[in-house]
Amino acid sequence: MKKGKKIYEGKAKIIYATTDKNLAIQYFKDDATAFNNQKKTTIEGKGVLNNRISEYILSNLSQIGIKNHLVKRLNMREQVIKLVEIIPIEFIIRNVATGSITKRLGIEDGTVLKEPLIEYCLKDDALGDPLISEEHINAFEWANKKEIEKIKKIILRINDFMIGMFRGINIKLIDFKLEFGRLKVNGKNEIILADEISPDTCRLWDSMTDKKLDKDRFRKDLGDLIPAYTEVAKRLGILHEQSNISAVNVTKLSSIKKRK
Ligand code: 5GP
Repeated sequence: MKKGKKIYEGKAKIIYATTDKNLAIQYFKDDATAFNNQKKTTIEGKGVLNNRISEYILSNLSQIGIKNHLVKRLNMREQVIKLVEIIPIEFIIRNVATGSITKRLGIEDGTVLKEPLIEYCLKDDALGDPLISEEHINAFEWANKKEIEKIKKIILRINDFMIGMFRGINIKLIDFKLEFGRLKVNGKNEIILADEISPDTCRLWDSMTDKKLDKDRFRKDLGDLIPAYTEVAKRLGILHEQSNISAVNVTKLSSIKKRK
Protein backbone atom coordinates (compact mmCIF):
# COMPACT_ATOMS: atom_id res chain seq x y z
CA MET A 1 0.00 0.00 0.00
CA LYS A 2 1.46 3.35 -1.09
CA LYS A 3 0.51 6.92 -0.14
CA GLY A 4 -1.30 8.72 -2.95
CA LYS A 5 -2.63 12.22 -3.45
CA LYS A 6 -4.28 14.46 -0.88
CA ILE A 7 -8.06 13.95 -0.89
CA TYR A 8 -9.07 16.25 1.97
CA GLU A 9 -7.40 18.81 4.19
CA GLY A 10 -9.10 19.86 7.42
CA LYS A 11 -7.97 22.23 10.16
CA ALA A 12 -5.89 19.65 12.04
CA LYS A 13 -5.56 16.69 9.67
CA ILE A 14 -4.91 15.73 6.06
CA ILE A 15 -6.35 12.62 4.40
CA TYR A 16 -4.35 10.98 1.60
CA ALA A 17 -5.57 8.31 -0.82
CA THR A 18 -3.63 5.06 -1.02
CA THR A 19 -3.19 2.39 -3.66
CA ASP A 20 -5.91 0.45 -1.79
CA LYS A 21 -9.21 2.18 -2.67
CA ASN A 22 -10.74 1.21 0.68
CA LEU A 23 -7.95 2.68 2.81
CA ALA A 24 -6.57 6.16 3.42
CA ILE A 25 -3.77 7.74 5.42
CA GLN A 26 -4.72 10.25 8.11
CA TYR A 27 -1.92 12.76 8.85
CA PHE A 28 -2.02 14.78 12.11
CA LYS A 29 -0.87 18.38 11.64
CA ASP A 30 0.49 20.72 14.32
CA ASP A 31 -1.99 23.44 13.35
CA ALA A 32 -4.35 24.68 16.03
CA THR A 33 -7.45 26.70 15.20
CA ALA A 34 -10.31 28.03 17.27
CA PHE A 35 -13.41 30.18 16.96
CA ASN A 36 -14.17 29.13 13.40
CA ASN A 37 -10.61 29.64 12.17
CA GLN A 38 -10.34 33.22 13.51
CA LYS A 39 -7.55 32.17 15.88
CA LYS A 40 -4.75 30.10 14.33
CA THR A 41 -1.27 28.96 15.21
CA THR A 42 1.11 26.03 14.93
CA ILE A 43 2.04 24.13 18.08
CA GLU A 44 5.03 21.93 17.40
CA GLY A 45 4.41 18.36 18.50
CA LYS A 46 0.62 18.56 18.92
CA GLY A 47 -0.01 16.27 15.93
CA VAL A 48 2.35 13.61 17.28
CA LEU A 49 0.59 13.53 20.66
CA ASN A 50 -2.91 13.49 19.13
CA ASN A 51 -1.92 10.64 16.80
CA ARG A 52 -0.76 8.54 19.77
CA ILE A 53 -3.66 9.43 22.08
CA SER A 54 -6.30 8.88 19.39
CA GLU A 55 -4.72 5.54 18.41
CA TYR A 56 -4.83 4.46 22.07
CA ILE A 57 -8.49 5.42 22.58
CA LEU A 58 -9.77 4.03 19.26
CA SER A 59 -7.91 0.71 19.77
CA ASN A 60 -9.46 0.41 23.23
CA LEU A 61 -12.90 1.14 21.76
CA SER A 62 -12.33 -1.61 19.14
CA GLN A 63 -11.60 -4.02 21.96
CA ILE A 64 -15.02 -3.40 23.49
CA GLY A 65 -16.69 -3.90 20.10
CA ILE A 66 -17.09 -0.29 18.95
CA LYS A 67 -16.25 -0.36 15.27
CA ASN A 68 -14.10 2.49 14.04
CA HIS A 69 -11.99 3.54 11.08
CA LEU A 70 -8.54 2.94 12.62
CA VAL A 71 -6.55 0.15 10.98
CA LYS A 72 -3.12 0.88 12.47
CA ARG A 73 -0.73 3.67 13.32
CA LEU A 74 1.94 3.96 10.63
CA ASN A 75 4.40 6.36 12.23
CA MET A 76 4.47 9.33 14.62
CA ARG A 77 2.08 11.44 12.54
CA GLU A 78 0.12 9.02 10.36
CA GLN A 79 -2.46 6.28 10.70
CA VAL A 80 -4.01 3.95 8.12
CA ILE A 81 -7.78 4.32 8.23
CA LYS A 82 -10.77 2.82 6.45
CA LEU A 83 -12.16 5.28 3.93
CA VAL A 84 -15.76 6.10 4.89
CA GLU A 85 -18.44 8.49 3.72
CA ILE A 86 -18.43 11.02 6.56
CA ILE A 87 -21.86 11.98 7.94
CA PRO A 88 -21.76 15.81 7.88
CA ILE A 89 -22.63 16.17 11.57
CA GLU A 90 -20.47 16.88 14.62
CA PHE A 91 -21.92 14.93 17.54
CA ILE A 92 -21.20 16.74 20.82
CA ILE A 93 -21.58 14.86 24.11
CA ARG A 94 -21.63 16.83 27.34
CA ASN A 95 -21.33 15.54 30.92
CA VAL A 96 -20.62 18.96 32.44
CA ALA A 97 -21.79 22.29 30.97
CA THR A 98 -18.96 24.52 29.79
CA GLY A 99 -17.96 26.17 26.52
CA SER A 100 -20.56 27.11 23.92
CA ILE A 101 -23.59 25.76 25.84
CA THR A 102 -22.99 28.09 28.79
CA LYS A 103 -22.93 31.13 26.50
CA ARG A 104 -25.81 29.95 24.33
CA LEU A 105 -28.19 29.07 27.18
CA GLY A 106 -26.82 31.05 30.12
CA ILE A 107 -26.04 27.87 32.08
CA GLU A 108 -23.51 28.26 34.90
CA ASP A 109 -20.04 27.02 33.90
CA GLY A 110 -19.26 23.66 35.52
CA THR A 111 -22.88 22.56 36.02
CA VAL A 112 -22.89 18.75 36.22
CA LEU A 113 -25.61 17.41 33.90
CA LYS A 114 -27.92 14.78 35.37
CA GLU A 115 -27.44 12.66 32.25
CA PRO A 116 -25.22 12.98 29.14
CA LEU A 117 -26.52 15.56 26.71
CA ILE A 118 -26.08 14.95 22.96
CA GLU A 119 -26.07 17.95 20.60
CA TYR A 120 -25.78 17.99 16.81
CA CYS A 121 -23.90 20.58 14.75
CA LEU A 122 -23.78 20.75 10.99
CA LYS A 123 -20.18 20.17 9.86
CA ASP A 124 -19.79 23.34 7.81
CA ASP A 125 -16.94 25.75 8.58
CA ALA A 126 -18.38 28.48 6.34
CA LEU A 127 -21.54 28.49 8.47
CA GLY A 128 -19.62 28.12 11.77
CA ASP A 129 -20.86 24.54 12.47
CA PRO A 130 -24.40 25.65 13.51
CA LEU A 131 -26.43 23.74 16.10
CA ILE A 132 -29.15 21.63 14.43
CA SER A 133 -31.94 19.35 15.65
CA GLU A 134 -32.84 15.75 14.73
CA GLU A 135 -35.66 17.25 12.68
CA HIS A 136 -33.13 19.20 10.58
CA ILE A 137 -31.07 16.03 10.08
CA ASN A 138 -34.20 14.25 8.92
CA ALA A 139 -35.55 17.11 6.77
CA PHE A 140 -32.29 17.59 4.86
CA GLU A 141 -31.41 13.88 4.82
CA TRP A 142 -27.96 14.30 6.39
CA ALA A 143 -28.63 10.91 8.04
CA ASN A 144 -31.71 8.71 8.38
CA LYS A 145 -33.62 8.01 11.61
CA LYS A 146 -32.21 4.49 11.94
CA GLU A 147 -28.66 5.80 11.60
CA ILE A 148 -29.22 8.47 14.27
CA GLU A 149 -30.75 5.96 16.70
CA LYS A 150 -27.76 3.64 16.16
CA ILE A 151 -25.27 6.50 16.56
CA LYS A 152 -26.93 7.66 19.82
CA LYS A 153 -26.54 4.16 21.29
CA ILE A 154 -22.87 3.99 20.22
CA ILE A 155 -22.24 7.49 21.64
CA LEU A 156 -23.58 6.54 25.08
CA ARG A 157 -21.38 3.41 25.16
CA ILE A 158 -18.33 5.44 24.13
CA ASN A 159 -19.12 8.05 26.79
CA ASP A 160 -19.50 5.39 29.53
CA PHE A 161 -16.24 3.75 28.52
CA MET A 162 -14.29 7.00 28.27
CA ILE A 163 -15.64 8.42 31.57
CA GLY A 164 -14.34 5.26 33.30
CA MET A 165 -11.03 5.23 31.43
CA PHE A 166 -10.30 8.87 32.32
CA ARG A 167 -11.64 8.56 35.89
CA GLY A 168 -9.03 5.82 36.42
CA ILE A 169 -6.27 8.33 35.69
CA ASN A 170 -7.82 11.19 37.67
CA ILE A 171 -9.24 13.09 34.72
CA LYS A 172 -12.85 14.26 34.33
CA LEU A 173 -14.34 13.85 30.85
CA ILE A 174 -16.29 17.10 30.54
CA ASP A 175 -17.40 16.93 26.89
CA PHE A 176 -16.21 15.78 23.49
CA LYS A 177 -16.95 15.71 19.78
CA LEU A 178 -17.38 12.60 17.62
CA GLU A 179 -17.80 12.02 13.90
CA PHE A 180 -19.25 8.95 12.22
CA GLY A 181 -19.08 7.56 8.69
CA ARG A 182 -20.75 5.01 6.45
CA LEU A 183 -18.71 1.99 5.40
CA LYS A 184 -19.96 -0.29 2.62
CA VAL A 185 -19.90 -3.90 3.86
CA ASN A 186 -21.32 -6.51 1.45
CA GLY A 187 -23.24 -3.79 -0.37
CA LYS A 188 -24.79 -2.47 2.87
CA ASN A 189 -23.91 0.71 4.78
CA GLU A 190 -22.50 0.17 8.24
CA ILE A 191 -22.06 3.07 10.68
CA ILE A 192 -18.58 3.31 12.20
CA LEU A 193 -16.78 5.87 14.35
CA ALA A 194 -14.34 8.06 12.37
CA ASP A 195 -12.06 11.10 12.81
CA GLU A 196 -10.04 11.30 16.07
CA ILE A 197 -10.52 11.36 19.85
CA SER A 198 -7.84 13.47 21.51
CA PRO A 199 -7.38 16.52 23.76
CA ASP A 200 -8.16 18.53 20.60
CA THR A 201 -11.69 17.10 20.52
CA CYS A 202 -12.38 16.52 24.24
CA ARG A 203 -12.46 18.70 27.34
CA LEU A 204 -10.39 16.98 30.03
CA TRP A 205 -10.03 18.45 33.53
CA ASP A 206 -7.75 17.14 36.26
CA SER A 207 -10.05 15.54 38.86
CA MET A 208 -8.48 17.25 41.86
CA THR A 209 -7.63 20.71 40.55
CA ASP A 210 -9.89 21.16 37.49
CA LYS A 211 -6.73 22.11 35.55
CA LYS A 212 -7.54 22.07 31.84
CA LEU A 213 -5.60 19.37 29.95
CA ASP A 214 -7.09 20.03 26.50
CA LYS A 215 -7.38 22.49 23.62
CA ASP A 216 -8.94 25.12 25.88
CA ARG A 217 -5.32 25.90 26.84
CA PHE A 218 -5.00 27.34 23.32
CA ARG A 219 -8.56 28.70 23.04
CA LYS A 220 -8.25 30.57 26.35
CA ASP A 221 -4.55 31.52 25.99
CA LEU A 222 -3.59 29.46 29.06
CA GLY A 223 -0.30 28.31 27.48
CA ASP A 224 1.53 25.03 28.11
CA LEU A 225 -0.57 22.99 25.69
CA ILE A 226 2.18 20.45 24.94
CA PRO A 227 2.86 19.74 28.66
CA ALA A 228 -0.90 19.26 29.20
CA TYR A 229 -1.33 16.82 26.25
CA THR A 230 1.88 15.05 27.37
CA GLU A 231 0.40 14.71 30.86
CA VAL A 232 -2.70 13.02 29.37
CA ALA A 233 -0.49 10.66 27.31
CA LYS A 234 1.66 9.82 30.36
CA ARG A 235 -1.34 9.12 32.57
CA LEU A 236 -2.82 6.88 29.85
CA GLY A 237 0.50 4.96 29.92
CA ILE A 238 1.33 5.82 26.31
CA LEU A 239 4.49 7.72 27.26
CA HIS A 240 6.82 6.63 30.01
CA GLU A 241 6.62 8.60 33.26
CA GLN A 242 10.20 9.78 32.92
CA SER A 243 9.89 11.00 29.32
CA ASN A 244 9.93 14.74 29.22
CA ILE A 245 8.21 15.64 25.99
CA SER A 246 9.11 19.14 24.97
CA ALA A 247 8.12 20.51 21.59
CA VAL A 248 11.70 19.88 20.44
CA ASN A 249 11.68 16.26 21.64
CA VAL A 250 8.33 15.65 19.97
CA THR A 251 9.66 17.01 16.69
CA LYS A 252 12.65 14.69 16.93
CA LEU A 253 10.34 11.80 17.78
CA SER A 254 8.14 12.57 14.80
CA SER A 255 10.95 11.74 12.43
CA ILE A 256 11.48 8.31 13.99
CA LYS A 257 9.32 5.73 12.23
CA LYS A 258 7.39 3.25 14.34
CA ARG A 259 9.46 0.08 14.72
CA LYS A 260 7.77 -3.24 14.08
P1 5GP B 1 -18.18 23.63 22.42
O1 5GP B 1 -19.49 23.45 21.67
O2 5GP B 1 -18.40 23.89 23.87
O3 5GP B 1 -17.29 24.64 21.76
O4 5GP B 1 -17.39 22.24 22.28
C1 5GP B 1 -17.88 21.06 22.88
C2 5GP B 1 -16.85 19.96 22.74
O5 5GP B 1 -16.75 19.55 21.38
C3 5GP B 1 -15.43 20.35 23.14
O6 5GP B 1 -14.80 19.25 23.74
C4 5GP B 1 -14.75 20.70 21.84
O7 5GP B 1 -13.36 20.41 21.91
C5 5GP B 1 -15.46 19.77 20.86
N1 5GP B 1 -15.65 20.40 19.56
C6 5GP B 1 -16.74 21.02 19.08
N2 5GP B 1 -16.57 21.47 17.83
C7 5GP B 1 -15.31 21.14 17.51
C8 5GP B 1 -14.51 21.34 16.32
O8 5GP B 1 -14.95 21.89 15.30
N3 5GP B 1 -13.24 20.88 16.38
C9 5GP B 1 -12.73 20.25 17.49
N4 5GP B 1 -11.45 19.83 17.47
N5 5GP B 1 -13.46 20.02 18.59
C10 5GP B 1 -14.72 20.48 18.61
